[in-house]
Amino acid sequence: QLSQRLTGSLERLRGRGKLTEDNIREAMREVRIALLEADVALPVVKDFIKQATDRAVGQEVVGSLKPGQALVKVVHEELKRVLGGDQAELKLDSAPPVVILLAGLQGAGKTTTAGKLANLLKDRHRKKVLLASCDIYRPAAIDQLETLAGQVGAGFFRSERTDDAEAIAREAVSEARKQFADVLIVDTAGRLAIDDAMMDEIKRVHAAIDPAEVLFVVDSMTGQDAANTARAFNDALPLSGVVLTKTDGDARGGAALSVRQITGAPIKFLGTGEKIDGLEPFYPDRLASRILGMGDVLSLVEEVERKVDQKQARKLAAKVGKGSRRFGMDDLRDQLLQMENMGGLSSLMDKLPGMNKLPEAARAQMDNKQTRRMIAIINSMTPNERRFPDIIKGSRKRRIAAGSGVQIQDVNRLIKQHKQMQKMMKKVGSKGAISKLMKRLP
Ligand code: GDP
Ligand code: MG
Repeated sequence: QLSQRLTGSLERLRGRGKLTEDNIREAMREVRIALLEADVALPVVKDFIKQATDRAVGQEVVGSLKPGQALVKVVHEELKRVLGGDQAELKLDSAPPVVILLAGLQGAGKTTTAGKLANLLKDRHRKKVLLASCDIYRPAAIDQLETLAGQVGAGFFRSERTDDAEAIAREAVSEARKQFADVLIVDTAGRLAIDDAMMDEIKRVHAAIDPAEVLFVVDSMTGQDAANTARAFNDALPLSGVVLTKTDGDARGGAALSVRQITGAPIKFLGTGEKIDGLEPFYPDRLASRILGMGDVLSLVEEVERKVDQKQARKLAAKVGKGSRRFGMDDLRDQLLQMENMGGLSSLMDKLPGMNKLPEAARAQMDNKQTRRMIAIINSMTPNERRFPDIIKGSRKRRIAAGSGVQIQDVNRLIKQHKQMQKMMKKVGSKGAISKLMKRLP
């Protein structure tokens, strides 16, 4: 899977000292393999790697950024850019009837998508929609569209003709005009593979009705083939957008990258199921993040960059990595100070995957309110007491309490909290959440 693979590549890059052309190239080779395994077309992979590498090498690794982080960012940004930058809406502002033409291979999901689009336009945009099919080869395909129209409550136009796709399309437009439809969706016939006759026909249909949207419908599960199909349709028609169907059956995301890179047309929707509501807007940013498997981690990285003292963080990361027994009072204090800088641990924890599964008590434990007092208590301990808190017994406790201006029970509570924290660090560490965070620190 692409996401796992990419995460793996970048994981391995972490911890290297410098961002050099060499180690970028090496990491990019792994990204390349990952993309190929995800069925992204070879020329697309080449382009992507070249662009991302150019960016990475040209970019300075500023301040506290680690090479791995810098590369994560470059790859993420490049991926987002290639996938289309911002979300693209349907163009619906031309004079009605706004005509939407669907093109693609047989089985890609055109007819299904026509129904889904009608549903969406009706529901969300309150449009009056007319559906028409110019599939002259398969009468069943026309019936299929009629059924869908009935299901969503959209209008349906059936021509008397059965021989001329271009003429049917023209008739559909005049019918839409007559009915004062806001939108006309024209479904077309596909072939199992690209052929000239099909391309000629769709070109003629296109020329006859001059649609506002020419949507290329493509099955995301066809991988490499999606790229070839996209190229053929892109050569034949001025595509205004892409609908990537059956994404519910494909977690790799390879087709999205290929199709987008080849056509240059924005991916406007994802088909996410067979049902009529299985159509979602496409968000390049989200897919880029999902492909990289990072969720909120990017924003976390940014936050950490800004606020955490690098050396302390690294020291702490090492200790946490080695297990709870080495997590002393000094480490607790370092951490408390950092937490305070970052607006409290709870705000940080919410961003980490899996952290919401921690017991409430453990979270409350680390809240801000007592932070100051805890720091003061630790400050009153000797280095030895900080390293080996077990030696803090009666007289030591009294001395520490007096020194920091608190009660004995406050000192007791801190010791207890430190113990619980050790335990939690162990637990969280084994789940990987904190150590994941810490690995991302400079
Ligand atoms: P057309 O030949 O391009 O018109 O393709 P159809 O609309 O007839 O769809 C072909 C098959 O793909 C049908 O069985 C649809 O139910 C199925 N299909 C279309 N879109 C999706 C989707 O987003 N997810 C899933 N799971 N199936 C889909
Ligand atoms: Mg069809």
